[in-house]
Amino acid sequence: MKQISKGVTLKHGRWICSQCHSTRQSHFYQYRSVILDKKIVYCRNCVNIGRVDNMNDVFLIETHNVKSSCHYQLPFELSEQQQFASKKIVTAIAHLRSLLLHAVTGAGKTEMIFEGIKYARNEGLNIAIVSPRVDVVIEVSMRIKKAFVDEDIDVLHQSSQQQFDGHFVIATVHQLYRFKQHFDLIIVDEVDAFPLSVDPTLMQTLVHASKFKHCHILMTATPPRVLMRQIKHLEVIALPARFHRYPLPVPRFQFLKINPHKKQYKLLKYLQQQIEQQRYTLVFFNNIDVMKRLFHLYKNEVPSLTYVYSDDALRFDKIERLRRGDHQIVFTTTILERGFTMAYLDVLILNSHLFEANAIVQIAGRVGRKAEAPTGLVLCMHEGITLPMLQARHSIKKMNKLAQKRGWID
Ligand SMILES: [Zn+2]
Repeated sequence: MKQISKGVTLKHGRWICSQCHSTRQSHFYQYRSVILDKKIVYCRNCVNIGRVDNMNDVFLIETHNVKSSCHYQLPFELSEQQQFASKKIVTAIAHLRSLLLHAVTGAGKTEMIFEGIKYARNEGLNIAIVSPRVDVVIEVSMRIKKAFVDEDIDVLHQSSQQQFDGHFVIATVHQLYRFKQHFDLIIVDEVDAFPLSVDPTLMQTLVHASKFKHCHILMTATPPRVLMRQIKHLEVIALPARFHRYPLPVPRFQFLKINPHKKQYKLLKYLQQQIEQQRYTLVFFNNIDVMKRLFHLYKNEVPSLTYVYSDDALRFDKIERLRRGDHQIVFTTTILERGFTMAYLDVLILNSHLFEANAIVQIAGRVGRKAEAPTGLVLCMHEGITLPMLQARHSIKKMNKLAQKRGWID
């Protein structure tokens, strides 16, 4: 089924984008082309993945189904919990039923989906593994390609184009715009990292890219309430244990009013202790200006201190150096809240009374990820304990208790 139509069409007097399905008229920009002597209308909502307009045809991906053997290699055995999840996923795919996996940070989500991928490809199902974040897509695609060496996998994001026929796709959510009713299975990693509340068209995109009968598997460590309301009908599976069978580190609270104009002994002592104990430390800020001020206050006392934030020109360089262990202490904003893994790491959240519960859970989730260093400290420095701080700690403890009860941690 190959579909061809204009990129932007007029229906009952309203413009519709065939790429992103937007019908919001403010998304459509009109101008008069002098050369063609015609009115041109294009969609601004999805212009970043390729401009579509009322003049040119768009060719959507042709849909057919092809089976593949889809062998994979795993250099280790799945944990008890991973095996449990893996079976649930295969069953959901077999019945084309959707699932929400509430898996704690460090549960080993990627490996849980391997058997499901194999099952789906053996049945000839078209599959997509998507994330709202390009860095997650790159990271996950490297691991999946390494395991599924014989498969033709399309990795799609801003700087990576389609090579194969789209039976096995790893992509950012936005890249799904180019597929219509194509996928039998879509797995969404870090589903809460895409701004559902801000951009409801993204959830629509999932639906449009899927066949009428489909299976969606949504994965998150911190399901937001907005999402839970939208998908009330979904079966939710709690996966409370980390793959290495150690509990999640529970945040500790300590009172400290941060003064951005003056060095504070309590903070300095903490940082120096971290260095003495040869731990790596991420210090989280919710404000870039405060972060830079504190950097200048402490840089002479703390060797190799650095900072990184999302608009930092040297961001990728710095993160690379961080992974290599060049900096023992790093000041950062929420850009390192997800997707960053390193051994011997502790975290400090400054002004934690200004953070959301889910952010605290994600930040705490950076600690103790590696089997060779499964423990660590999560310290929240605050000007007064808030409800989100308590909620974060409560949800972490609850998951630990559940994991214990099921015998999935020691
Ligand atoms: Zn559009």
